[in-house]
Amino acid sequence: MPELPEVETIRLGLARRVVGKQIAKVEVWNQRMLRTQPGGIQQFSTLLEGAEIKAAVRRGKFLWLELNDDQALVIHLGMSGQVHAWDEVPLEKRKHEHIRLTFTDGTGYSHIDQRTFGKTEVVDLTPCLDGYPAGEGTSRKALPESATHIARDPLDAGFNLKAVATKIRQSQTAIKTLLLKQELVSGIGNIYADEALFQAGIRGSKPGASLTQKQAESLLIAAKQVMEAAVKVGGTSFDALYVNVSGEPGYFAINLQVYGRNGKSCYKCGTLVEKETIGGRSHHFCGRCQPLAKRKRKQ
Ligand SMILES: [Zn+2]
Repeated sequence: MPELPEVETIRLGLARRVVGKQIAKVEVWNQRMLRTQPGGIQQFSTLLEGAEIKAAVRRGKFLWLELNDDQALVIHLGMSGQVHAWDEVPLEKRKHEHIRLTFTDGTGYSHIDQRTFGKTEVVDLTPCLDGYPAGEGTSRKALPESATHIARDPLDAGFNLKAVATKIRQSQTAIKTLLLKQELVSGIGNIYADEALFQAGIRGSKPGASLTQKQAESLLIAAKQVMEAAVKVGGTSFDALYVNVSGEPGYFAINLQVYGRNGKSCYKCGTLVEKETIGGRSHHFCGRCQPLAKRKRKQ
């Protein structure tokens, strides 16, 4: 599943390759990709044909292309979705290619998905209530109606660190589970949640309410830092399915400290990294660097 850095890499590619293009032709080979589109395939095509792509925008892992009439083309990559930008659209439909937009200059964009967990839809934009631009890549203060439940991510200028930390401390839910809750803080998936928890020295099974305000804030700052580092190298690829818009796989260059390293030595202290399950998700941690109980200290 792509997390924020991977989606940001895709967004940057779309910003470079498809923004400013006008859609000449819409082809849909798999209507399942439009399963939530109001008006189905006909409305999808009518709304897109002739439209210009104004911006490629991301909030958390949520990605959309702003169109010229207060609407957006929302791209849900799901587990296995890819978007591909063509310098010249091929004559034939490619394997697992479900949707293709051909632009007036002969370039194009395709939504490719092996397993069809992804989907796409044209939806109305609705004003952001907090007065900030909707997300990365736009100055417009409006977001797709289907994204209004998505909280701002730690890289967003409108992200309210103190308020989110306070909300974390009001919950008895495990902090790892809270970090994955897109309604609280978006963009963090399993990999970067574990990395952020390690960096902040916090065990993922601890309830949000057991954290101090300072710990909760430092955890969110850690999440921002690990995701920024991953954006710099183009995302992490554990999955051959994740590729950028030019079809190149993500880089493995990012040095993961704990994720996927269970049974190996912690880089900081040498203790073996462990793995447990929290809320149905795996959590990789170092028992020494991320102790459950605080060493005795004055409260
Ligand atoms: Zn350690």
